[in-house]
Amino acid sequence: MDEMVLEAMKEVLTTGQEMARRGLVAGTSGNCSVRVPNTNYIVITPTSLEYELMLHEDICVMNMAGEQVEGRHKPSIEINMHLAIYEARPEVGGIVHTHQTMGTAVAIAGKSIPPILEEQVFTLLGAVELGEYAMPGTKDLAQNAVAALGNRNACLLAHHGVVAVGQKIRDALLHAEIVERAASIYIMSNVLGGPKIVPFMAAEYEA
Ligand SMILES: [Zn+2]
Repeated sequence: MDEMVLEAMKEVLTTGQEMARRGLVAGTSGNCSVRVPNTNYIVITPTSLEYELMLHEDICVMNMAGEQVEGRHKPSIEINMHLAIYEARPEVGGIVHTHQTMGTAVAIAGKSIPPILEEQVFTLLGAVELGEYAMPGTKDLAQNAVAALGNRNACLLAHHGVVAVGQKIRDALLHAEIVERAASIYIMSNVLGGPKIVPFMAAEYEA
C-alpha cells in the first residue's frame, strides 16, 4: 500500500486511541479520519470496534465516492459526515467526532457555545454552533454538521456529540479538547451570572 495511506492509517489509529484515553469517547462511540494528501482517499476508524483493541489493519481506506478500497471491517457509520466535510472544506485534512461529556451537555441543552474564550476564538474561529438533530449515520446529519461548522473548526451535534476538524488530525484532536474546555467554562460561568462574549467578537456575535 502507498506510504501516504499507511501513514494516514497510523495517525487514525493513534488518534482514536488517544480519544479513548482522554475520555472523549467511551466504548466504540465516536470516530476519526484523515484525508490522504494528493489522493482521492480518506482513511477512517471501523464501526463497532473498541479503540483499545483496534489494530493498524482494522482501519478502513475509502475513496471520496464512499466506496471501500481496503479494510476487513465496515467503516464508521458516520462515513457520510466525514466525506461531506472533506467535500465542503478542501483545507481540512483530519476530523474527529467525539461524544465528550461537556460539549455534549451543551448540545443536549439545545445551545451553541458563544465566543467566550480567547483560545476558543483563535483556534476554533468563533462560536461552536449547534447542528440540527438528525439520526446517526444519515446524510441529513452530514449536511447539518457541514452547516454548523461553516468555516470554523468545531461544532456540536444536537443530542449527540461534537465534531472537530483541522489541517492535521492532531489539530482536530486539540480542537475537540478546546471545545471541552470552552463547554465546561460556559456551563460553570452560568452559575456566576452568565458568560460575557469576548470583546472583539461582541459586535459581530450580538448583531
Ligand atoms: Zn456519534
